Amino acid sequence: NRIIARNSLFEDFDSDITLRPKWLNEYIGQDKVKNKLDIFIQAAKGRNEALDHVLLVGPPGLGKTTLANIIANEMGVNIRVTSGPAIERAGDLASILTNLSDDDVLFIDEIHRINRTVEEILYPAMEDYALDIIIGKGPSARSVRLDLSRFTLIGATTRSGLLTSPLRDRFGVLLNLELYDINSLTDIINRSAKILNIEIEIEGALEIARRSRGTPRIANRLLKRVRDYAQVVENGIITLEVAKKGLDLLEIDELGLDNVDRKILLSIIHNFDGGPVGIDTLSAATGEEKVTIEDVYEPYLIQIGFINRTPRGRVASKKAYEHFNISYK
Ligand code: ADP
Repeated sequence: NRIIARNSLFEDFDSDITLRPKWLNEYIGQDKVKNKLDIFIQAAKGRNEALDHVLLVGPPGLGKTTLANIIANEMGVNIRVTSGPAIERAGDLASILTNLSDDDVLFIDEIHRINRTVEEILYPAMEDYALDIIIGKGPSARSVRLDLSRFTLIGATTRSGLLTSPLRDRFGVLLNLELYDINSLTDIINRSAKILNIEIEIEGALEIARRSRGTPRIANRLLKRVRDYAQVVENGIITLEVAKKGLDLLEIDELGLDNVDRKILLSIIHNFDGGPVGIDTLSAATGEEKVTIEDVYEPYLIQIGFINRTPRGRVASKKAYEHFNISYK
């Protein structure tokens, strides 16, 4: 029941549908990404062509799935959604591909987790809109090439380095999403509050934004938990005071750090004398999965300057020591 969970939580399911922006002009922040996309979409529509394949890169909860849906909407085409781990066999992907119509979007979340045999089907599909299938067995086996519709593949991944280079190279458009600034997060919180009929004051929204670690999904989760608190304990309106008390109750500190962040940082400081410590060792020491540390916790801890990544491992910064009132060595 973590707020900073890696994947969508059950409670996100509803809000993912109601709160998700549908059009580019409703998508808050990420101006560089939006400007590029706007041009690419207009150009493709002007030429009456499918959009080039797009790779969306960024930590969980930053709006990759949302953007994929927006792209399909703006292009006026259908979207088919799947994920790397869900496509187990080459045949699964082949059947998805042959069912796409011209210009359709195929969204593959966590595309880095696709397996090797499936990945090889993607190469000719992305490059030549073709599917090579083997008919028969042994010496009489022959390869037949099937034509596919001209679709757009949108892949999402947490780090582009997780993709093999042949796959990465087949994307024409690479968009890197960055952690959101406080202003964008405040706008997202106000927008969500309006949709969910939550009364919130600007200072209350700002306080939640400050503790959302740059991530819209977390901002929406915190907003809903603080609403519960406001409703049950206070008079329902999220003021600065109410936001602070509600968030303290969730054990999210003023920088947005939770228990796991604190465990990671204190482990580096106490067990490894501030580092450097390798990711595997840190994972064993904290009991947190390596990918969870790397994809969920570390990006924000690096952004706020609490952890530095060095070739020899992670190091806790002076700022991190100060945050815990521990004297810096
Ligand atoms: P990802 O696919 O990167 O994990 P999602 O697209 O599922 O992230 O986004 C998580 C939630 O955050 C969505 O349900 C959406 O409501 C909200 N969200 C993400 N990006 C934005 C944005 N730019 N503007 C408004 N809401 C956003």
